[in-house]
Amino acid sequence: MMTRRFWSPGSYVLIFLVLVLGSSSFMAHAENSRVLEERQRELREEKNIVHCSRSRSRTVREIVHEYLTPFVEAEKYTLPESCRLHPANDIYREQEENMDELRPMQWQCRYCKKIFRNQGFLDTHFDNRHSNLLDKSLNMCLADACGALHCDYYNSLSTSKSQKQSTCKPAVVERNRHSCEVLANTCFPADHSPAAQRLNDFFKRQFCDAHTCKKKLKIFPRGNGINRNKSLIYAFTLFTIVALAIFYLIVYLVRRDTNMLKKGMRRASLRPTSKVQKD
Ligand SMILES: [Zn+2]
Repeated sequence: MMTRRFWSPGSYVLIFLVLVLGSSSFMAHAENSRVLEERQRELREEKNIVHCSRSRSRTVREIVHEYLTPFVEAEKYTLPESCRLHPANDIYREQEENMDELRPMQWQCRYCKKIFRNQGFLDTHFDNRHSNLLDKSLNMCLADACGALHCDYYNSLSTSKSQKQSTCKPAVVERNRHSCEVLANTCFPADHSPAAQRLNDFFKRQFCDAHTCKKKLKIFPRGNGINRNKSLIYAFTLFTIVALAIFYLIVYLVRRDTNMLKKGMRRASLRPTSKVQKD
């Protein structure tokens, strides 16, 4: 009698409801945990993402190396660390120093000695395998100086394509000019020293003056110190090689002609003597 009363239809309904509520509560809890875990994973990944273009940073590094460093070295000037272009403010500097181009189409990672066919693959390898080695505490990104230092123009030079004449946007030009002048004043504070004053003027002429819509001004008007020196060395070497080749050719021809002349004279002097003996 007791058993029959306990397992009444109402009890079944009650148990069913408890089970449904329990399972839905469990599922909701599991779903919340999954969402929370997913969010935590996203946050961890976001923390590891470097919001700084590696290729544009490389372009800035090359522009500085070619169009600024030779002139800074000529003045024996040291960039202050507050300057955005100072090597210590380059988040990718250490990785860049740990890649070697062994020969064409052979790039090596110094960390793990793996070899890649091109620099792009090695860049991806650095992103995937060695991003933990980047000092993310640095808030400086060289690529941020791209607008000020004419990265697009510089890249168009290496691809031998003339830069398309785009409509001049005064707001963009003004922003780039402003950031260019900020660079000039932080890297070369005019009141710091006479050398800093000269480099401040130089920097503005070399990089900032061309940020204008009013007239077409030459970008990097002071030229590339490194290439100019290299060109002179190549030209001098080539000239020396050609001059030496011509000199030795002339010496060879003169000696050959002299020897032939001597032989001819010797034969000529021998012939009459033999005829006389025969007679
Ligand atoms: Zn590696």
